[in-house]
Amino acid sequence: MHEYKVAIIGGGPAGMMAAIKAAQELGPKTVCIIEKNDGLGKKLLMTGGGRCNIANSTPIHDQLNYYKKNKNFLKHALYTLPQEKLLAIFEEKDLEFHIEDKKRIFPDSEDAHDVLDVLEEYLEELEVDTYLSCPIDANDMEHELNERMEPVFLIENDKISLNASKIVVSTGGITYPSTGSTGDGYKIASKMNHNITDIKPGLVSFNVDDFLLRSLSGLTLNDVEISFKDKKKKTSVRGDLLISHFGLTGPAVIDLSNLLIEKSKFSIVDDDLNLIDDEEMENLELFSDRISIDFTPDLTEEDIKAQITKDTPESGTLKIKNYMKKFLPSNFIDYFLMKLDISPNKTMANITKKEKNKIAEDLKRHPIVIEFLEIDLAKVTIGGVKSKEIDSKTLQSRFVEGLYFAGEVLEVAGPTGGYNLQIAFATGYLAGQEAANSLK
Ligand SMILES: Cc1cc2nc3c(=O)[nH]c(=O)nc-3n(C[C@H](O)[C@H](O)[C@H](O)COP(=O)(O)OP(=O)(O)OC[C@H]3O[C@@H](n4cnc5c(N)ncnc54)[C@H](O)[C@@H]3O)c2cc1C
Repeated sequence: MHEYKVAIIGGGPAGMMAAIKAAQELGPKTVCIIEKNDGLGKKLLMTGGGRCNIANSTPIHDQLNYYKKNKNFLKHALYTLPQEKLLAIFEEKDLEFHIEDKKRIFPDSEDAHDVLDVLEEYLEELEVDTYLSCPIDANDMEHELNERMEPVFLIENDKISLNASKIVVSTGGITYPSTGSTGDGYKIASKMNHNITDIKPGLVSFNVDDFLLRSLSGLTLNDVEISFKDKKKKTSVRGDLLISHFGLTGPAVIDLSNLLIEKSKFSIVDDDLNLIDDEEMENLELFSDRISIDFTPDLTEEDIKAQITKDTPESGTLKIKNYMKKFLPSNFIDYFLMKLDISPNKTMANITKKEKNKIAEDLKRHPIVIEFLEIDLAKVTIGGVKSKEIDSKTLQSRFVEGLYFAGEVLEVAGPTGGYNLQIAFATGYLAGQEAANSLK
């Protein structure tokens, strides 16, 4: 039986970083990664459309505001490995980075393979043993005392047999399961007496049952504000929206989805922590299935009305569809007017006051009904191992000594823009460091 000081279950960004840091502290052949896929970092390779939006340059104290109730939980991990320190790990191996809009950080090579290559280079140099194609089931793990009466974890199945003084569980969430993240970490945590919060898909797109809208697939509406209402309070996100063959996607939609889903009371796993079936998925009850698009967030409804009134005399013979280019992209105008039952060929002189008011109102509050969430495309899992049960300074379980958690298996999730990889790397680094230091 192989003996390790630290064994990492799950070789995504969190697991690889945990292994690198632990091996730097403890030396060669002391750390292993056990991964169910035949290669490490399958999801990492898909990030940022294959370009890998590795982090965000927003200062940590501002980033923390995105995590609301988990703000304090993430604070220590993010300050232990802030962006500059994370990037320096890669820069040491000659991978350089640049910042794009919304402070998103990408490698200059624009290739996620290069990020994975650097991580694998470190793992090789540090002689971390990697076991591939080795899925670990919760029942493959036991926690017991060795002959020296020290607590050890035994991991045994038909593929491997090893023991380790410390374990880091970094198996990811339960969304995008084709990449290996199938929620196994929840079962391991649960076996070790941890509670799992409601599990929900995060950063998802919206399916909209509107044939005409879907026929505009590929069209981007730049800098709109989309929102939903909680009684009188509006929750909104401003950014780009993309119309797709199933409905709505793009950064603004995806970020709003997290805010909407956080407020919704459902879980996509059953009591045994297995995914619910497809029919149940489609019937999940959202906090609100109605969202609203503001196409002109810099103008008030009154501004628009005043503008139309001012322009009408000099644009009397202009068709409304041409006039609307002032407010909307050309390819969207026919759809917009059709929804309001206004002929696109009507001239401005013939548009009634009521129609003008309808136009202004709809530019500010265009209603959309969400049919269901496109869960298959969820980029993160919201929810996971309850953060209150984990020591935020070490990421060690408060219940089982020597058991650590890192990455998306934890309750925390961030918006789009590199925040989720930053969380994965930072929590991985902290868990690896603390697991190793506890053995020194
Ligand atoms: C399409 C897509 C694009 C994304 N783009 C970005 C982006 O640009 N920027 C960003 O910040 N975030 C992005 N994300 C989110 C980001 O990829 C994840 O938050 C991040 O990968 C989480 O890292 P992790 O190591 O915790 O989990 P994962 O990357 O999911 O890794 C977990 C690993 O554990 C393994 N595993 C699971 N169960 C077992 C088991 N039982 N035994 C052994 N191994 C197991 C899995 O095979 C997997 O390799 C994207 C996600 C998706 C799906």
